[in-house]
Amino acid sequence: LIFKRTLKKLPNRNRMKAQIRKGMKRASNGDGTSPISLQSDKPIVLVLGSGWAAHSLIKVVDTDKYDVVCVSPRNHFVFTPMLPSSAIGTVEFRSLLEPIRISNPFITYLEAECTEIDVEKKMALCRAQISYEDGRRPQFEVIYDIMVCAVGETTATFGVPGVMEHCYFMKEVTDTVGLRRRIGESFELAALPGTTEEDRRKALHFCVVGGGPTGVEFAGTLRDFVRGDLSRKYPELMADVQVTLLQSGQTILTTFTGNLQNRALETFRKTGVNVRLGVRVTEITESEIVLNDEERIEYGICVWSTGNAARPIVQAISAQIPEQRATMEGRNPATTKLAVDPFLRIDGAMDAIALGDCSRMTGGPLPATAQVAGQQGAYVARMINRGYIPGRGGLTAPFPCRRVEASSISSQDGATVDEKYFSKNFQFLSLGAMAYIGSDKAVTQLEAGKAMFDIAGYISFLLWRSVYVTKQVSTRNRVLILFDWMKTRIFGRDLSVF
Ligand code: FAD
Repeated sequence: LIFKRTLKKLPNRNRMKAQIRKGMKRASNGDGTSPISLQSDKPIVLVLGSGWAAHSLIKVVDTDKYDVVCVSPRNHFVFTPMLPSSAIGTVEFRSLLEPIRISNPFITYLEAECTEIDVEKKMALCRAQISYEDGRRPQFEVIYDIMVCAVGETTATFGVPGVMEHCYFMKEVTDTVGLRRRIGESFELAALPGTTEEDRRKALHFCVVGGGPTGVEFAGTLRDFVRGDLSRKYPELMADVQVTLLQSGQTILTTFTGNLQNRALETFRKTGVNVRLGVRVTEITESEIVLNDEERIEYGICVWSTGNAARPIVQAISAQIPEQRATMEGRNPATTKLAVDPFLRIDGAMDAIALGDCSRMTGGPLPATAQVAGQQGAYVARMINRGYIPGRGGLTAPFPCRRVEASSISSQDGATVDEKYFSKNFQFLSLGAMAYIGSDKAVTQLEAGKAMFDIAGYISFLLWRSVYVTKQVSTRNRVLILFDWMKTRIFGRDLSVF
């Protein structure tokens, strides 16, 4: 299968090489910003983000027909489901990444953050992520024909004081790199001769806030690390190690069936993960987690994994469009998502598309998962490849975009443009959900049509591994992940701290 896929890609590479030579034209505006335009007269597709949704679009979009500009502060794609594994070294973090320039070498990638969008003028203002020696960060504008917003979401703190200052997150690779280093440091600190018993117990108390799949996977993998690798190297510290999972609800893994929730709780009980249900964190200080009943828990490392909140750019886009403002009335701005129609076009800005976690389908909200984001990205790429040019005139009478002649989008057979380019609206195909719970066990909820199957235990773990290895975005990543797993099995996880 891999060989067949590689063969299929070969002619594309030659065809696209010509486009690279065209390059980009930049001209200064005189006000510190520079507009970016491409030399060809193809429509410009501006993609914001390099996550699940953007990446699956970038891989498929036809750069023969469009100039694709990707703006994202992160120059790589991250396979997020394996971030908990990389935080404790089961897999190396580089095995989860794919540089965007490799995903599709024929797009223009710009390492910047989009700070403003003018949906009327079809213009995005961006600020570089990197700065010059003197601290200046270049700014530029991108003028687009179609904008695809796939910026995802940021971590929700729910206004709990101290979270940003004292907690570790699990959203980006940089988060897990920092967390991995701190876990190693905690053990080294606890092993020092001058460390008191109280300090040792505190340093080795690992708290995870949030009982969703990410929190559960991290608690499970951390327990594996402690029992499997650290117990051999630091046997004298084992009595002081604690892993605590704090969850506000009455159960964990709330999106899974009751049976799987119980299996996860049972596994945690057996492996010694201390699960506290029905507790809410109200404050995090430098050394303590304060709960709603005033209880104070001393901790060494606190990992915050409680949900998502809107990014500022999504709030800014939403504030510009009356249709979006209407849907947000009376709601907390942190929960803003861009309302999209069944074709994923932003309500009120039909030349803009929103995908993944930052969007909400008006017909029925979909879960904020990589599965949804990936399918949406591929769907939009296919539609764009078929020649879809969004217009401002609504569903049945779109205006042509700036660079395309009206005749090129008029329908010969009398079908409306929507019918012509969107024979089918986006339909999410749910394949189920899975989560690793530690001790070579996982829980899997398989969906086949209306039928649902629960699988738990070692078989589910094997399924989890095979799904994750096949879902990797490239052969390189598949090979790296397989090697990492093999290396960990044979030699254990790397304990060096740097
Ligand atoms: P993201 O993947 O978050 O990508 C957003 C992109 O936008 C990033 O590249 C970011 O740098 C960029 N960006 C941010 N701001 C700007 C800006 N202003 N301008 C330009 N670019 C910007 N889902 C599953 O289905 N299964 C799982 O097992 C699973 N496990 C997970 C484990 C973890 C630890 C995490 C964090 C998530 C997990 N998810 C899982 C959820 C899944 O990762 C998200 O649903 C998915 O990443 C959403 O994709 P997205 O493209 O919308 O956003």
